[in-house]
Amino acid sequence: MLQDQFNRRFSYLRLSLTESCNFRCSYCLPDGNECSSRSEELTLPEIKRLVTAFALCGTRKIRLTGGEPSLRRDLCNIIATCKAVPGIEQVAMTTNGYRLKRDIQSWLDAGLDALNVSVDSLDPATFALVTGQDRLPDILEGIDLASSLGIKKLKLNTVLLRQHNAGELPDFMAFVKQRAVTLRFIELMQTGDNNAFFARQHLSGDSIKQQLLQAGWLLGAKDAHAGPAQEFFHPQHQGGIGLIMPYSKDFCADCNRLRVSSLGELYLCLFTEQHRSLRHLLAQDDPEAVRQFLQHSLLFKSSSHALAEQKTGATRHLAMIGG
Ligand code: SAM
Repeated sequence: MLQDQFNRRFSYLRLSLTESCNFRCSYCLPDGNECSSRSEELTLPEIKRLVTAFALCGTRKIRLTGGEPSLRRDLCNIIATCKAVPGIEQVAMTTNGYRLKRDIQSWLDAGLDALNVSVDSLDPATFALVTGQDRLPDILEGIDLASSLGIKKLKLNTVLLRQHNAGELPDFMAFVKQRAVTLRFIELMQTGDNNAFFARQHLSGDSIKQQLLQAGWLLGAKDAHAGPAQEFFHPQHQGGIGLIMPYSKDFCADCNRLRVSSLGELYLCLFTEQHRSLRHLLAQDDPEAVRQFLQHSLLFKSSSHALAEQKTGATRHLAMIGG
């Protein structure tokens, strides 16, 4: 199992399939991202070698992300390939939901276990304003379809935005009352490109936490392998609400994830200057070379990001690495 000098163990790989995205989220890619690098994205054979090597190092969960992963034409083959790698127990994906209604059945047939869909507002006009896409009803239908088709895990990601959605908490609570989905508020993170937007819109998750507690929500216990979210439940709601607060103390203490970009760069953290290409190791089957590369790279993983000091590393926006 991969381990760093702070005894953190890494069993989770977030793999970006493309930097391209067809949404224009105000905090990420307000001008969109038509990438010139698409022809250089990791190929299916490279992905197979990468995931096989990670699995031999103890990786058990893969999340496909981006950019927008559903823009990859070979997405179903990628899902099926990851799922077939011995040792991989869960294949998850994060999507903006653009292709959800059309493609969910084929993603499930390929072996997808878990899906996160980004939904920044339940108000169609606000959703369009934040994402640049007037598609909320279609995406919500896709979410209900995914649920009715029996996907094992379904979550909504909502970036907490002071002026756009902080007042929508009652609507979000109502949304999860009859649906067995988890909604997660993610605190807005500063990146190289979003400084002015961050200054206007960042809001600490603490304010939401207080409102949840006042409305009768209870903080659940965390199990040993849980991610960074604080999870809340309510006896009268089928779904749950989680909070991801990257600015909170000790956020990085349980970090269990590594990231590889769509161009084959290893990122030890979302907010680091350091990234190293491992693509040259994927030209042939040589998992031992990948293992040595990963173990050596981990010597340089720092104990925590430095977001509180506004150090965002080389990250201009999260679509570069996969949020
Ligand atoms: N295109 C997919 C999507 O929209 O979910 C996957 C990629 S996107 C970069 C992954 C997640 O990162 C989304 O939930 C998005 O809202 C979140 N995200 C992007 N930039 C962020 C930021 N600056 N702070 C917090 N979350 C961010």
